[in-house]
Amino acid sequence: MARRVYIFDTTLRDGEQSPGVSLNVMEKLQIARQLARLGVDVIEAGFPITSPGDYEAVKTIAREVRGVTVAALARASFQDIDQAWEAVREAEQPRIHTFIATSPIHMRHKLRMTEEQVLEAAVAAVKRARSYVSDVEFSAEDASRSDLDFLCRVLEAAIAAGATVVNIPDTVGYATPEEFARFISEIRQRVRGIEKVVLSVHCHDDLGLAVANSLAAVMAGASQVEGAINGIGERAGNAALEEVVMALYTRRDQFGCETGIRTEEIYRTSRLVSSLTGMPVQPNKAVVGKNAFAHESGIHQDGVLKERTTYEIMNPQMVGISQSNLVLGKHSGRHAFRQRLQELGYELGEEELNKAFQQFKILADKKKEITDADLEAIVEEELRPVPVTYTLEYLHISTGTTVVPTATVGLKKGDELFEEAACGNGPVDAICRAVDKVTGIPCVLKSWGINAVTSGKDAIGEVTLKITENGGKTYLGRGISTDILEASAKAYVNAVNRLLWETGRLKE
Ligand SMILES: [Zn+2]
Repeated sequence: MARRVYIFDTTLRDGEQSPGVSLNVMEKLQIARQLARLGVDVIEAGFPITSPGDYEAVKTIAREVRGVTVAALARASFQDIDQAWEAVREAEQPRIHTFIATSPIHMRHKLRMTEEQVLEAAVAAVKRARSYVSDVEFSAEDASRSDLDFLCRVLEAAIAAGATVVNIPDTVGYATPEEFARFISEIRQRVRGIEKVVLSVHCHDDLGLAVANSLAAVMAGASQVEGAINGIGERAGNAALEEVVMALYTRRDQFGCETGIRTEEIYRTSRLVSSLTGMPVQPNKAVVGKNAFAHESGIHQDGVLKERTTYEIMNPQMVGISQSNLVLGKHSGRHAFRQRLQELGYELGEEELNKAFQQFKILADKKKEITDADLEAIVEEELRPVPVTYTLEYLHISTGTTVVPTATVGLKKGDELFEEAACGNGPVDAICRAVDKVTGIPCVLKSWGINAVTSGKDAIGEVTLKITENGGKTYLGRGISTDILEASAKAYVNAVNRLLWETGRLKE
């Protein structure tokens, strides 16, 4: 029987630490549900002590998401651990994940603790966590730059104190594959009791080696890999879980391991994470990039047409990229629409379905062929759980090379219609100013980006933007349309709705 490798997802904790990313509770819950569908073994839902929002998110996920272990992160302090337990206690399978740094550089400069003090703190933390729950993970932060003798002592003590998982992070992405594999082997040989616990790795991608290091560690006997969807995370990010999983699967002849991942859910998970975090996936990204299965050269195309495996080691369906292109059009009914969505894996409530169907009809009037990618864009827009304060009713733009760009917007709030007009440096600027006049909230546009969901002149444009009210927190907005100015207006209104909601000003 193939050896089982556990997949520990930290998209919601380490991934959320990506610069510029901030997810609210509902968005985190939505991602967590998809991660459970994907079949990860552990969801690290957050770091409860760091903020009330993080605490709330972990608590909600622990309560709502079943069939998966939910972990909460805590430093090696009683206060952190107590808070982590409060947040995660309602989970079906709760885990407390506690950590302390073991490298000389971290102990001296960051912790200002001696080796003995770190060892003591680690043991005390694991014992405290074990007093609450039977599943306790201990991480030696910056393990790859630690003295191996000391690291082994700490791990041995943590296991003796009750840790059930020990994690070896390459916190700063410094390791190389051969070296990291040797490191893992040494630990397996030297640490007493290591065979009774899960040996985990957590690699960062500063040198682009996170996936390679994780796989090398698996070869050396590691049985849990930590990472994030699309490889997001601190700095250059974490090991991309979809790459780890597909490498283990495609080269099972080499690794002899299996995971519990339902690979057909990979693409959808990647899209959801990208859309909610506002972090685009690069086109040439392995496994989930737009070009990952595109064959450009004539020789390659010819080969693939004759026999796919000439140039394809995985097929797109395996990761959930649907092959059919032309699916629905103007005359498709509600039934066909719902059925196609089900085939794509979306289960919508009646109200969501109605709204999505209306959007579909509007789009079908503008665009002859509605592809799966279009449908996904529509559905994701309907599924984004931000209470709607304002909706864009209409938009009129006047722009050109010799006129001052002017926008008139009509926004609905409940049954009331508000209209305003404004000039700007460009049409998008004019739209934002007109919306600001309606809402009375002057916002600054921090970033604006567009992505064509499908190809062709009538492609849907997906605008993702970020706004801030007074230079503080940023709020993400997303909007789709075949008209990029309309998509911009929708995205801006979406971001304002989010701002109103998250700052508790819904009832103004
Ligand atoms: Zn990390």
